[in-house]
Amino acid sequence: MTAGSHAADEKPLPIIVLGAGCAGLAAAWRLVERGQRVLVIEAQDTVGGLAGGVHAGGDLYEYGPHVFHTQDPDILADIKSLMGADLQPYKRTIQIKFMGGYFRFPLRLTDILGQLPIKTILAATAAYAWRSLEGLVRRPTLENSETVLVRSYGDVLYRLFFRDYITRVWGIPPAEFSPAFARERIPRLNILEVFEKAAAALRRRLGRRPREGSATQGYVEKVTGDLHTTREGFHLIVERMAARLRAVGAQIRLGARVERLEREGSRITAVVVRSGDREESLPCAGIVNTLPLDEAARAITPGLGPEIESAAAALRFRAIVFVGLKVRRPRVLPASFMYFREHSFNRITDFSYFGFHIDPPGFTLLVAEITCAPADRIWTDDQLARELVLGDLRREGILAPDEVEATHVFRARHAHPIYTLGYEKSRQALLDAFTHLRNAETAGRQGRFQYVNTHVAIKMGQEAADRLCEKFPG
Ligand SMILES: Cc1cc2nc3c(=O)[nH]c(=O)nc-3n(C[C@H](O)[C@H](O)[C@H](O)COP(=O)(O)OP(=O)(O)OC[C@H]3O[C@@H](n4cnc5c(N)ncnc54)[C@H](O)[C@@H]3O)c2cc1C
Repeated sequence: MTAGSHAADEKPLPIIVLGAGCAGLAAAWRLVERGQRVLVIEAQDTVGGLAGGVHAGGDLYEYGPHVFHTQDPDILADIKSLMGADLQPYKRTIQIKFMGGYFRFPLRLTDILGQLPIKTILAATAAYAWRSLEGLVRRPTLENSETVLVRSYGDVLYRLFFRDYITRVWGIPPAEFSPAFARERIPRLNILEVFEKAAAALRRRLGRRPREGSATQGYVEKVTGDLHTTREGFHLIVERMAARLRAVGAQIRLGARVERLEREGSRITAVVVRSGDREESLPCAGIVNTLPLDEAARAITPGLGPEIESAAAALRFRAIVFVGLKVRRPRVLPASFMYFREHSFNRITDFSYFGFHIDPPGFTLLVAEITCAPADRIWTDDQLARELVLGDLRREGILAPDEVEATHVFRARHAHPIYTLGYEKSRQALLDAFTHLRNAETAGRQGRFQYVNTHVAIKMGQEAADRLCEKFPG
């Protein structure tokens, strides 16, 4: 028996998957594999969510863009079989502008030490050594991301690299972040490696022969495994995921916004969706949610009580305004990604490095990312976003405004979950609420409020589908 079948002659009620991003599409496929009837509801007119990109003026602009990478053999094999020869390798190159110089990423300590003044290097090394030793004997009673970063890097490197940058990109200083943010997002330096590399770089600066030097880890999320894209970006991957669902009869309803999740006791009985002016109640056997965890919890009607409401109110997401530029040049940037701290955007990408098909030949697409809060003016002001980005590119000597053929501004409201101090408790309360529902699960970057990439969102979708099936006796 499949979930929610009520009589032998009636069609079983579907399991409704909320959201057609990577997590939702993967959950839907796993449910199909397990013999369930599936309906996917998606607010946008296209599938893929954050990984799906946006079409404008005949071009595909991605949020990022996205590259596929995973160490999970099953997910890799599945995507490879789905994509065949269309999956192509991509080699990531990154430059970070800092104190007037350009640093390669993953950060090489030799780059840092080679470009920073010796005084700063010595101060940074001493501060790092002191904090590392101090960390062995004493820990602060209340940890936050500042205490973790200071202990991991020392006060000087913390101030130089992290404090102001994090505050600008995320809108709050590291002291207001949970320690989880620094631990999960920022790899730590190894003390012995640092001393070895500091010594080697100093020897070079002093004109002595280097003993040996090797790259150290960078300070943002580590992307592991081979990297892949397609000629049509990540968009093609999610389109194929959707196509195989449709091929076996699973329905995907686009342009339908989930408004409410109707609850009777500990079961979700129907999903209320809005398409244009039309509201419709869709009875379901169960749901897999991949919408932002706070929004999904608030959508449950009747509500789950004041504790859940305040937990939902405590979770915050950072938004991104993307400014896409079509440029009359085959390539603009010296690396596929460049990071800045002094401009309106913190990151800009040149699509020419990704092997995407860009029409006509001789043109490339750039996408600049401006992180913000929805209350900021830039969130709603396209003209301002364009002016800031074009002005900064001109000042940086990257691009003259008359080289730009077209611009397109697009947005992601729930781009990054913000791990504010104490967020763990609120998140857990919401996850527990889903666990206690007898026919609901939640998955994905938004749905579990977790800073993950596509392959983990896929895994989360599969696992949520499996957990949901376990809730229905077979
Ligand atoms: C700038 C940026 C760059 C990134 N780069 C990479 C990368 O290079 N590689 C990588 O692997 N990962 C990358 N990621 C992470 C990746 O985007 C996510 O891990 C993944 O896309 C999350 O998938 P998801 O299905 O969990 O969420 P989403 O993609 O957000 O899907 C949720 C879906 O729910 C829909 N939805 C929301 N509300 C409603 C509603 N009320 N009703 C109906 N539908 C609704 C949304 O429209 C969306 O389609 C990046 C993320 C960002 C922000």
